[in-house]
Parts: sequence; structure tokens; C-alpha cells
Amino acid sequence: MMEQYLALKREAENSLLFYRMGDFFELFFDDAKRAAAILDIALTARGEHNGEPVAMCGVPVHSAEGYLARLIRAGERVAIAEQVETPDEAKARAKCEGRPSSKALVKRDIVRFVTAGTLTEEALLEPRRANVLAALSQVRGTIGVASVDISTGTMILAECAPEMVGAELARLGPSEVVVPDGWNCADPEEPTFHANHTFDSDRGAARLRALHGVSTLDGFGEFSRAMCAAAGGLIAYLEHVGRGTLPLLLPPRIQRASATMAMDEATRTSLEILASSAGGRGGSLVAALDRCATGAGSRLLAEDLAAPLLDTQAIAERLALVQYLRDRPIERANLRDRLRGLPDLARALGRIVAGRGSPRDLGQIRDGLGEAQRIQDGLAQLPDAPALLKALLPRLSGHGALTDALTRALVASPPTERSNGGFIADGYDASLDELRAISGNARRAIAAMEARYRDETGIASLKIKHNGVLGYFIEVPNRHADSLMEAESGFTHRQTMKGAVRFNSLSLHEEASRISEAAGRALAAEEAHFEQLVAAVGEARAAIADTADALARIDVCAGNAERAAEGEWCRPDVVEEPVLEIVAGRHPVVEAALARSAERFVANDCALNPDDRLWLIGGPNMGGKSTFLRQNALIILMAQAGCFVPAQSARVGLVDRLFSRVGASDNLARGRSTFMVEMVETAAILSQASERSFVILDEVGRGTSTYDGVALAWAVVEAVHSRIGCRCLFATHYHELTRLAATCEALSLHHVRAREWKGELVLLHELAEGPADRSYGLAVAKLAGVPPTVVSRAKAVLDRLEQTRMETGGIAAGLGELPLFAAAASPEPAQPSASQELADRLADTDLDALSPREALDLLYELKRGLQE
Ligand code: ADP
Repeated sequence: MMEQYLALKREAENSLLFYRMGDFFELFFDDAKRAAAILDIALTARGEHNGEPVAMCGVPVHSAEGYLARLIRAGERVAIAEQVETPDEAKARAKCEGRPSSKALVKRDIVRFVTAGTLTEEALLEPRRANVLAALSQVRGTIGVASVDISTGTMILAECAPEMVGAELARLGPSEVVVPDGWNCADPEEPTFHANHTFDSDRGAARLRALHGVSTLDGFGEFSRAMCAAAGGLIAYLEHVGRGTLPLLLPPRIQRASATMAMDEATRTSLEILASSAGGRGGSLVAALDRCATGAGSRLLAEDLAAPLLDTQAIAERLALVQYLRDRPIERANLRDRLRGLPDLARALGRIVAGRGSPRDLGQIRDGLGEAQRIQDGLAQLPDAPALLKALLPRLSGHGALTDALTRALVASPPTERSNGGFIADGYDASLDELRAISGNARRAIAAMEARYRDETGIASLKIKHNGVLGYFIEVPNRHADSLMEAESGFTHRQTMKGAVRFNSLSLHEEASRISEAAGRALAAEEAHFEQLVAAVGEARAAIADTADALARIDVCAGNAERAAEGEWCRPDVVEEPVLEIVAGRHPVVEAALARSAERFVANDCALNPDDRLWLIGGPNMGGKSTFLRQNALIILMAQAGCFVPAQSARVGLVDRLFSRVGASDNLARGRSTFMVEMVETAAILSQASERSFVILDEVGRGTSTYDGVALAWAVVEAVHSRIGCRCLFATHYHELTRLAATCEALSLHHVRAREWKGELVLLHELAEGPADRSYGLAVAKLAGVPPTVVSRAKAVLDRLEQTRMETGGIAAGLGELPLFAAAASPEPAQPSASQELADRLADTDLDALSPREALDLLYELKRGLQE
């Protein structure tokens, strides 16, 4: 056995090997130690290997899913080795091979690898979160990114520059990444598998063609070599993990970076789009927005928010459907009721196609498709449907034949376990009905037999029972056993228990055989029907997935409509001009949090346009600056994702890239100092932002000394204002920066208002024009509970500092005369550069007068000059 185990372990490589032994999966050696530590289960020993005791632990097969989930969450991968023959088959094989059957070892094989990115089990997946597996490849300096959610089969191909890999992965949020062996581009943070198979673009394209039965991929889109290579690597990995069986893979779609708003990882984290800074979904934007009735709807909403659109037409179509449903509360309630009853069609389909489907999954397909048709019927009645709804409705129907077949074939609520049968409905298959009738008759015969035996023997407590080991048997209490023991009694003894004795009889044996034979044949018949139904569903998979997609889109729009109605949100007007006009905007997450403690959120306006596109916002800590910055970024993001927004009115000029930065945020996990992170992130904005971008900068420069901080913040504001020219909200407590208003014509000063009233600080959370009058730092400290003695000492220090400032003009005294950024950038060292010398030399040379030899010499000389 050890030999077999070790061979399988070699195949499993780094994965934990679940080795099936009877009703348990056993783990040995280091695997056992690792798993026991994670699962907190007992570690035991079994036998010896090379003189050492073998560590062992095990989990029961029937509850393996829960243990698997914990191991996967802890970042492990698991190889499942199942018994692939019965003990009888093993014995027969041993006999054929001339070995004693007592030594026969049941054959085992790894049937599947369980990894974070390749789960399909309902119990292991979160209903409202997509589970994405991504593969990366590099072809001539371009990174191909292939991603798939195998629980639904959605496959997306994209490409990007090497430095954008992080942003691309941040958009996808994969739970596992596959890269070719020897990958030397940026290493993803997710669990990463270095695959030793090839990521070849030709082979990848061929795999995709074969998979979808087409001779060319042109019908799906124009795939680059990098995309095909990544897709090839992804499919090969899925094959490896599924041991040759591929999961559901729908025709790939291309996601062009140019079609969606770009956001890097820092921006996504800082805006808390899909997860809050604490890590969970609670407190995130998606949680505050999500009113979807189905898991598939929630997953699509998350996808929408992760990739807001850049096409005003497509955005307007989504918004039109949200408005249509918002304006029809009764119809919306009906629709959402229906949606709530929907099973997760896409995931049931995913399991069926991956060969892990159950009768229950078939039932879900039946119910889901039936409900889709009823939803279609209901919505089709509504007048004046907007364009998006008109396009979605036909995608909900067309499954009549399949739904009928499933309805006829299956019982009302089919079980998850198929090995016990009982899922095919009566009346579907006459021969199955007959087999069931045989079993039924025999069962009735056995019941009658029990009554007859009681009469005949006079033992009122005689019972006919059934168990898995003996099958049917007759049982009487000990004290009545003697009469049945007699040779001519017609009963044969089988087993003596503590209080009872068990017997058999010829007629019982006959009826029991009838039952077991009929049951065996009935099971086989059900199994055959199951395979047929699975094949029928598999054939219709593209159409079913399409219906599931359309339902999810309807659910997202209905959910957004519900949310809009609930919060009195407005339909944003998304336009091409670079403006941002928000009247009475709110922060959806902060507002909801305040509402829980019955506090009111103060709405604020924002008005950016080409003549006034950079707002410098001052005011006390805790005054609401960060909240204001973020609410505007979120409103833009939501608008372009096709959601209504928390404002009275909103006119949003399309944003190509969104940047959000918070000064000195901690990222110690990555081993960078806080200030370093701040600067790296700021550098990314300065190199990537365009005129159409939107930037929020919160206290940039705060991670270093005051002088450095002011200087950097100053230079960054100038660069954003004068070089990039994008819309920007910049919160700062450096009062010195207000002087920039004199030189930057499209910059204006704003502050969050506060008042001191009877010695107490009152934060009004209200935005007003003009610079902040003072910083209220000490008042905030007092508010926070810093002891009065410390506050008054600080006041004394502050008075002294302010006196010095008055005398000298403060640290920014000389900055008023500093030439503007654009002008300041030009002065270069006066020395002629090497390239200038080279240009002069060439200009002075008459090329026609040179011999080939002289020309070559000149070339060498110039090269040497450059190197020096
Ligand atoms: P700052 O960035 O100025 O330090 P924050 O934006 O972090 O301030 O806000 C601090 C707290 O003030 C928030 O957690 C919130 O509870 C409250 N707050 C912020 N903005 C508002 C608002 N517009 N209305 C009501 N409360 C607000």
C-alpha cells in the first residue's frame, strides 16, 4: 500500500493527498502534519516507513467538503485519490495476475485536484462572489490575461503592458493565478501555480477552436497571440486539475482595457469597492448598493463596479432600464419576487458540465428555465420597454423542449445524491415503473408475510427487518427463538444478538431477491436517464448560460432600481465634456453607517469644469474631507457602471482613469514604508493620468517632515493642475498650499466648515468656498480625549510657533515668487550634452566627401564619444 501511496504522492506534487480508505480520506507524512495543524484534528501514527513511524490523520468522506473548504482557505491545494475499482474487482485482477487474492490492493487514482480557483461545489463557493481563476503569459513584451469563473463558465481574455498586470489582476480579483514555469514578470499576490506545461499561442488558439467546434475564432473576437497563449495555459491547467475532464467553458469574450475605466489596485482598495479596508464585503461599496435578488445578480453587480464603462450609449441603456423599473414599483416587486425564487442556474450548469452534477442540479436547471420563461411572459406585457429590456427578453425563452423533458423526467425535488436513485418521476419510463412495482409488490408481500408468521408461530413480537449487511431477516426476542431453531420450522438461523435472534426463510429470501434485483435494475435505468438528461443539458449549455446572464442583468437593474427608490437616488447624466456637477451628493456607505445610529449625513455639492477643475480642500481633521473626496469618486464610478447615484442631480463627464490616494497609508505587508508607498502611488498618477482622468488625493505628503511634505504636495498639485490638467480633488491640512490659488488659474480653494461653540468644536461637515480659517488641531485633540494638561501645553507651543510664523512669513514665505511648474521645469545644466555634440559633428560633416572607410571610422569615433 505504501508503494501505491508514494506513487500517487509523487503525482500530487505539492498538493495534499487525500487517500481514500473505506469511509475516510487519509493523509500521511508531512501532509498529515500540515492538514492536522490547519484542521485542528488528531494526528496519529500508522506503521513505519524507513524505520520512522508514519504520521497520519483522516477525515470522513461524507463530511470532507467542510474540511476541504478550510484547507483551500488556508491556501492549500488537495489531490483526491479515489478507489477506482471494487474489492471484488481487485481480487479478480489479482487472480488473473497469479497473485493471492488476499494480497489484492484496490486500485486508486487521483481523480481531481481541488484548488481555490477551480471549485464548483455549492458548499465551497460564496453565492454572491465570482470565483475567478486567471492565467498569465508573456508574448513579445505583452502580457496575455485569461480568466475564467468555472462555476459559471465565463471566460474573458485581455492583454496589458507588464506594468499593468497588478491593476488587471486587481480588476479580476482572482482566487488563484497560473503562470508558466520560470515566470519573471511581476509576481501576483494571490496563490500562484507555476505550471510546467507550455503557454503556446498557436496551441492555445487550436484548443479554443476545438473546444467550441469552430474553424476560426474570428466569430468570437480578434484574439492576440498573448491572449491565445494565456488561454492555452489556462485550459491545460484546467485539464491537469480535472484529470482530463474540462469544466464548462463558454466562448471567450475580449475585455479591452480601452472599453472600461482603469483603476489600479491602490485605488480599488482605497475606495473600498468590493471589500472594505477590514477585508470583508461588509462596509464596501458593493454591499451598500447590492439589492439583487440572486447570487448571480450580485456577482454581475460586482463585475460592473469593478469595470465601469466608457461608452455613454451603453451606460445610458443600463440607466434607462433602471429608471424604467424604478418608476414601476409594483411590477418591480413582482419581478423581484420571481427572481428570488430562482436557483443559481449558471452554477448548476457549471457543475453538470464539469461532470459533478447531481439530480438536484438538473432540477435547478428545470426550475430556473421554467421561471425564466415566466419572467419573460410577465415582462413582455409591460408597455414601452427600453432598448436593453427588449434585447434581454428573447434571451429568457426558447428552452421549452428541454424544460418539458426535465419536468417529465424528474421528481419535484430531486436529491443531491444520485447513487440511491429515486429521482426519476413515475410515469416517465414504463419499464422503470414496472421494476418499482415489482419492488413495491415484494415489499407488500413481505409485510403480509410478517403478519402470517406472527399468526403461524404465535410470536406477536416477531418482526421482519432490513439492514445493509444482512438484507431482510426475521427477528424474534431470545425467549421465543427455540421453536424457530427447530429443523422443520422452515426458518434458518442467521445471527444471535444480545436480546434477539435473527432468521431467514425461503419465501423471505425469494421476495428479498426480487426486491434487490429489481432495485439494481431500477438504479441502472435511473443512471441511464441521468446521463441522457445531463447530455441534453450539456448540448444546450451555451443557450442556458445566455439565459442565466440575461437574468442576472435584469436582476442587477431591478436591484439598482430598488436601491435608487430606497435612497432617493438620481439618474446621472453621463456626458463627454470633462465636468463633474453634483448637487447634494452623499457617500453611500458613510450615509448608511450614520443612518444606523440615527445621524444625518450632510449632502455637499461639487462643481468641476475646465475653468475650475482642481479643488484644494482644507479644514479640520474629522471635518469630512476624505468623505467628500470619496463620495465624488464613487458617484463617478457608479454612474459609469450604470447605477443611479446618491445625489439630487449629477452630471458626470466620462472618466477614463480613476485614481484615489491617501497619504501615508500603511502597507507593511508588502515591506514598504508608509511614505514610500505614498510616493510610489503618487508617481503612478503622475505618469498615467490623462486629461480625462479623475484624481482624488487625500493628505498627500503627510508621511514625511512638514517641509518635505509641503514641498511635495505643492509640486504634485502644480503637476496635476498644469501638466496633466485633469479633474482633481485635493484634501490637505497644509495651509501653505492655499498660495497656489494665485498661480494656478483653474484651482479654487474650499474647506469643510467647523465652529467653536462655548469652547467646544462643532464639525458641520459642510463644504464652503475659500480657504479654511484655522486648523482646529487642538480642538480635535480635545474632542478625542487628550488630557487637558497636554492640550494646554500644546496651546502654549502653538502660540510660540505662530508668533515665529508672523515674524518670518512661515515656511512658505518664499514660495509666492517661485516660477510655475511648467516654467521651472526647463532650466537644464548649461553644458552641451553628448547628443548635442554628436548632432553638431554630423551637421559639419560632408557625407558625400567620405570614403566608405572614413565613414566607418567616423561612426566608431562618434560611438566612442557617446560612451565617454
Ligand atoms: P477628514 O478627512 O476631514 O478627517 P472624514 O471624511 O474622515 O474627515 O470624516 C470623519 C467622520 O465625519 C466620518 O467618519 C463621518 O462619520 C463624519 N462625516 C464625514 N462627512 C460627513 C457628512 N457629510 N455628513 C455627516 N457626517 C460626516
